Amino acid sequence: MSDSFRIGRLFGITIRVHYLVVVLLGLMLLLNLGRLAVVAYLLLCPIVLLHELGHSLVARRFGIEVIDITFWPLGGMARMRQIPEDSRIEGLIAIAGPAVNFALALLAAPFTLLTGGILWEIAMTFVVINLLMGGFNLIPAFPMDGGRLLRAWLGRRGDWLAATERAVRVGRTMAVGMFVVTLLPGQPFFLSPMLPLIAMFVWWTGRQELLAVRLRHGQRTINIGPFTFVVPDAESEPRDVRARDVPRPPAHPGPDRGRPTTPGGFSPEELRRLERFRGRLGQFPGGDGAPR
Ligand SMILES: [Zn+2]
Repeated sequence: MSDSFRIGRLFGITIRVHYLVVVLLGLMLLLNLGRLAVVAYLLLCPIVLLHELGHSLVARRFGIEVIDITFWPLGGMARMRQIPEDSRIEGLIAIAGPAVNFALALLAAPFTLLTGGILWEIAMTFVVINLLMGGFNLIPAFPMDGGRLLRAWLGRRGDWLAATERAVRVGRTMAVGMFVVTLLPGQPFFLSPMLPLIAMFVWWTGRQELLAVRLRHGQRTINIGPFTFVVPDAESEPRDVRARDVPRPPAHPGPDRGRPTTPGGFSPEELRRLERFRGRLGQFPGGDGAPR
């Protein structure tokens, strides 16, 4: 990744910062947005990191490798190796981030009562940021945390592809909603540029994840402009090919037929063709190369 740089490691996870975050911070200082904005931004970084660590450490408990955590303008992103299609695992990983935010808000709440002046300002900002971040991430706009919870719930009976399709549809509706909200008058200054960007993120990454799940489930898709079409009956193709193309073992396999054979009577070339359609083949039961 060349669009971010490494700043360190925490719990064995590489932490990276996207260059746009530095640009954004520079802009804030340049535009002189005021003390509260800078305090909020500086408080935001460790809070985002803790939120992502919440996701990451729960994922690791399930044996999922966390590649890295990156700060980028819309928050943080923990990249993980493939998460299993399991409602419990996906649900627990997704809820862990917002749960960290609500726990932090709860921990800091007493300070808003006991302090005054600048300390009160910081404590209050900290609580509000955590409540907002936890709450906002629970919006069911897949692939945001709330959307992942929705998919986990929809996929609880095991149909992960259908669950993803539905979660992505809900996410797209939410994304359109975010655009519409931006057009309403009287937006807070930080919402109007953020919401359309988050809406685009939801739309784009939701689509990417849906394509990945479709592919994993043997569905092929074609893309025409912004539209994606599932190639009908894609799953039947390997079956047809198998009926037509898969070679039968010779009646009397063996070295005497003038070509190398493997257990089961298939030549290495035939095995390679089989594996192309059927995936990696296991050992033939009882196969020892002897003619049967
Ligand atoms: Zn999250």
